Amino acid sequence: MSTAALVSTADASRVRVVGGGPAGAAAALAALAEGARVTIEEKSVFPRHKVCGEFLSPEIAPILDELGLGGLLAASHAARITRAALHIGGREKRFRLPETAYGLSRSSLDRLLFEAAQRRGAAPNAPRARLGAPGAAAPEPDFGRCSAVVIARGRRAGSGAGARSGTRIFGFKAHHVGAAARASDDAVELYFFEGGYCGVSPIENGAINVCGLAPEALLRARGFRPDALFPPALVSRLRGLERSFDWLLTGPLDLHGGLHARSDAYLAGDALSFVDPFTGSGILAALLTGRLAGRAAARRLSHDRYHAECRRVLRRQRDVAALLRDMLRARLSASLVRWIPGRLLYQLTRPAC
Ligand SMILES: Cc1cc2nc3c(=O)[nH]c(=O)nc-3n(C[C@H](O)[C@H](O)[C@H](O)COP(=O)(O)OP(=O)(O)OC[C@H]3O[C@@H](n4cnc5c(N)ncnc54)[C@H](O)[C@@H]3O)c2cc1C
Repeated sequence: MSTAALVSTADASRVRVVGGGPAGAAAALAALAEGARVTIEEKSVFPRHKVCGEFLSPEIAPILDELGLGGLLAASHAARITRAALHIGGREKRFRLPETAYGLSRSSLDRLLFEAAQRRGAAPNAPRARLGAPGAAAPEPDFGRCSAVVIARGRRAGSGAGARSGTRIFGFKAHHVGAAARASDDAVELYFFEGGYCGVSPIENGAINVCGLAPEALLRARGFRPDALFPPALVSRLRGLERSFDWLLTGPLDLHGGLHARSDAYLAGDALSFVDPFTGSGILAALLTGRLAGRAAARRLSHDRYHAECRRVLRRQRDVAALLRDMLRARLSASLVRWIPGRLLYQLTRPAC
């Protein structure tokens, strides 16, 4: 982002970050690096589990380097992932990733990022927004007195709720351990099934994360046990593994949401744009836009220019994800596997770094 785009340097030193996930922590670190005074508000207590595939795409490593956290992946024993496999409609496609990716639980990643932001000087603040009754959307915080505000509080509460009950999509996840997990290889695997899919991916300490999406109606019919929906190939893949906690569910998810913008705050991460999780690039997008938002807030860049830059960074990823989802819905998945090279598919779903 060019410094010519600066609109004002007055009052540039105070930045308030709402949300302490990857986008919020990256925003805080980037704003601190610009010399700003930063507060960061997080409603949860870390560490905590979060429904996520926990696949960290390769471009994350240089971003962490730039944020001054170069040793984080090695120190946390993140799994190294060099290959991918897609299982669709009885077909299988295997390919080597262009660069090494990583697997790290969100309980570790989010805690490490949040602690790093605090160590660098971000002051933790209790959230000013009072969360309403469960299921109710949080009231808008009053941003009036702040010099610059980054909103990184994740997916909008209630987004995706508009879909008719039964057609709504939910995410699920559970970690698995056991001898078979320790012996498993360095591949991220995606298994597609009716209306959903499930990823199997190694994380730190020899564990395996099993995470995916499924329609609410199918989940409900199976007593909200995601493993009751798994295709035979996935059931056989998980044989010998033991689930280490109950299935976690989240949703409804809005897979068709647009890119949001505000004129009084810099939106980052899922608060800005939620992309279909099968791209495995949501955390990358959160770190990228969080870093941009932190810089923009510290420099008091205009909100319009910031959101235009985010649109540029995220356009290809969002367009390709929408196209692939339509192909899957139209049952063109076999063609997808047969005709599109795996590496190309993978590269097209990355944001422009
Ligand atoms: C099923 C599923 C699988 C996924 N798999 C992957 C994957 O394998 N790889 C990948 O890269 N991405 C994946 N994603 C996407 C990824 O999880 C998100 O893109 C990422 O978490 C976005 O980070 P964020 O910081 O924007 O939001 P979040 O991670 O949601 O963080 C927001 C934080 O803000 C806090 N917060 C919320 N409201 C307030 C408030 N009012 N005040 C204070 N704090 C608040 C929350 O507690 C939370 O800690 C997946 C998503 C789903 C649903």
